[in-house]
Amino acid sequence: MKSVNGNEIIQLFESWSPKKLACMPNDPIGLAIGTVNKEVTKVLVTLDVTLEVVEEAIAQGCELIIAHHPPIFRKLSNLRTDTPAGKLYEKCLKHDIAVYAAHTNLDVAQGGVNDLLADALQLENRKILEHTYSEQLMKLAVYVPTEYAETLRIALANAGAGQIGDYDTCSFTTAGEGRFRALDGANPFVGQIGEVNVEPEQKVEVVFPSSQKNRILKAMLNTHPYEEPAYDVWELALTAKEEGLGRIGTLQQPMTLQQFAEFVKVQLDVPCLRVVGDLQRTVSKVAVIGGDGNSYIAAVRRAGADVFVTGDIGFHMAQDAEVNGLSIVDPGHHVEKVMIKGVAEKMKVLCAKKKLPVQFIESQIHTEPFKFI
Ligand SMILES: [Zn+2]
Repeated sequence: MKSVNGNEIIQLFESWSPKKLACMPNDPIGLAIGTVNKEVTKVLVTLDVTLEVVEEAIAQGCELIIAHHPPIFRKLSNLRTDTPAGKLYEKCLKHDIAVYAAHTNLDVAQGGVNDLLADALQLENRKILEHTYSEQLMKLAVYVPTEYAETLRIALANAGAGQIGDYDTCSFTTAGEGRFRALDGANPFVGQIGEVNVEPEQKVEVVFPSSQKNRILKAMLNTHPYEEPAYDVWELALTAKEEGLGRIGTLQQPMTLQQFAEFVKVQLDVPCLRVVGDLQRTVSKVAVIGGDGNSYIAAVRRAGADVFVTGDIGFHMAQDAEVNGLSIVDPGHHVEKVMIKGVAEKMKVLCAKKKLPVQFIESQIHTEPFKFI
């Protein structure tokens, strides 16, 4: 059977949840412990990395752990193995277990933590709550002999140019005449050396996100028949690829805040939660952010949500929300555990497409530090 290098797995993961989506300064994402430049057959997916989780990885024969919460969050001032954190790192290194963390980039990614939470709450008409990432759009105009224009348009579309909202393969074409004189040393596709040639050409225009510039130009240059294709590239005052944190959407049925809180308990599998607001009030528009959503209350109010589902809400935040008529359901930070199944399933699909024989195992260790009594 084909062996899989850990780098291939990480590349696939980052094609879905790239590091550039991280929206916290200095978020310690990426490879935290060990190396992925080795054969990997089994990957353990977990929310947190605790000693028990590392032991689970050893017992299951996993060479790699993918976690949401980075195992090294603050700079280390020592690497003692008589501290709980040090013991954890020691155990990983002794057993050659690599740990890779995808934190706020996985919150933002489409199909990541926030989408998984919105899925669990069955939110419809879903939108991003706060935009945190976008790319500048660029435009390419290329002049091509008429009979090659269609081949070029197809090559550009296949390379990802011409995506506008819910449309792809967008381009604009105008017909005209190209003029050129080939000089000594040239090898012209049409025309004679030293004579001005007039050629029926088309000008093909497409837009693309700036990160795709090299790929789009390469596709164009590889397809264009001329020795020296004429083209323009410029930056537009428009953005694309909008991504962001949190989701807002509507419930399938409006319900009272009390009913909604019960629904959240079941859907996010928590024994208890905290609620701010009038329990008899009807709610239908719901905003959700995994983890700690304290700093997004203003964004949630601006977006017009009836209720905000998030963890770690502080006392004064709750007081402010209450006076401002925003209801809050706080099921805790641990509900981000939805990522365990979500990431494992997504990665199974991505690896199956590439025919990579890797197993993804969902951690069974309960890492919620709180007990509810
Ligand atoms: Zn978190």
